[in-house]
Amino acid sequence: MSQSPTSLRDVSCADDYDPNSMPVDQARRLIARFLSPVTGSEQLGVRAALGRILARDVVSPVDVPAHDNSAMDGYAVRYADLGNGEAKLRVVGTAFAGQPYTGPIGAGECIRIMTGGVVPSAMDTIVMQEHTRASGDSVTVGTGHRKGQNLRRAGEDLGRGGIALARGKLLTPADIGLIASLGIAEVSVHRKLRVAFFSTGDELVSIGAQLAEGQIYDSNRYTLYGMLSRLGVDFIDMGVVRDDPALLERAFTEAAAIADVIITSGGVSVGEADFIKDLLNKLGEVLFWKIAMKPGRPLAYGKVGSAHFFGLPGNPVSVMVTFYQFVRDALYTLMGRDPVPALPMLDMVCTSALKKAPGRTEFQRGILSMDANGTWSVRVSGEQGSGILRSMSEANCFIILATEQGNVAAGSRVRVQVMEGML
Ligand code: AMP
Ligand code: MG
Repeated sequence: MSQSPTSLRDVSCADDYDPNSMPVDQARRLIARFLSPVTGSEQLGVRAALGRILARDVVSPVDVPAHDNSAMDGYAVRYADLGNGEAKLRVVGTAFAGQPYTGPIGAGECIRIMTGGVVPSAMDTIVMQEHTRASGDSVTVGTGHRKGQNLRRAGEDLGRGGIALARGKLLTPADIGLIASLGIAEVSVHRKLRVAFFSTGDELVSIGAQLAEGQIYDSNRYTLYGMLSRLGVDFIDMGVVRDDPALLERAFTEAAAIADVIITSGGVSVGEADFIKDLLNKLGEVLFWKIAMKPGRPLAYGKVGSAHFFGLPGNPVSVMVTFYQFVRDALYTLMGRDPVPALPMLDMVCTSALKKAPGRTEFQRGILSMDANGTWSVRVSGEQGSGILRSMSEANCFIILATEQGNVAAGSRVRVQVMEGML
């Protein structure tokens, strides 16, 4: 990655910079250059840390496992006692998980051991129960064993002082289990990111009020609420702001004072952008792009005061697509997640024919499903207009069609990004 530019103006001077036809990847890379994690962390109990991002490495205070122990129910033996043929050994005791055997074990003797039981230091091999025959206080062991088999060595998973989980990791259920397994009660996580958002548009009405002619209910604040909730940020819903320079200035100034990130929807498309442009360039530094993508063409990114600003398009589907394609990763970076993992991409047969114009990346909404034979395929989720939120609601994936791609015949292979797990 190139060095961080000091100003958004540096970006706009680059040779390949065309704000009116900005490839998706280039916009993503440009935004990434301005992002660094917020500072500040807090100490949380293991359960409360689920979904949060580690601010410091979790270092193991112990060897994992703590003792040499058995991976099987069976007998702990000395390999040297087995010889070449069958061996008959005297069983002098039993080690259970949590209840070690501490007595002496002479030559030709062994102990019975349960999974997780501590292996006495004199024993070097575990023979699983199924490969033995017990009679009275002795056991007969067949041939074909290997020295050290079925024995888990102390520290083999993780040595004391080793890094169990690295800073930047988003804590999953497995991670909090791992932390608990080390006996650690609290971890240091990055503080939550504060995100302020509002909708812009004179036509917007909040739910609860009656619609007058030409008005519509504001839905973007609800999808944004949903997407931000899933990411685990603190957010401030600032409502609907009318397309009025004085009101917008007040909203932006207030948002920049309280939040790390400001997200708006609407007002950045051609015809609308002009006065917002002037306003935002007065309050900060903002780039306005037409992204070579569908849906979601207009996008603004920049700084308002010290807050990062994402100006998303107004169309409800565009808001979601641009959020997933640009904002999600950016927020994770600001939250301290490192690395931000790329979302998995699948290669799938598409059973629908797709209309696609070359020259832009398309994010069609798809339904990934399995047929009676267990074969997976994808189809498009109905009408694809950028205002048709139902296409998102019914979808479980994006069908991503690359810039140069034209129409897609039914039965072709396409790339698919699964929405499950996206947030
Ligand atoms: P704009 O980007 O402001 O030109 O808006 C594009 C389209 O999205 C227009 O049809 C708007 O009415 C619609 N729109 C903008 N904001 C919202 C919103 N918050 N909820 C639902 N539709 C919206
Ligand atoms: Mg508008």
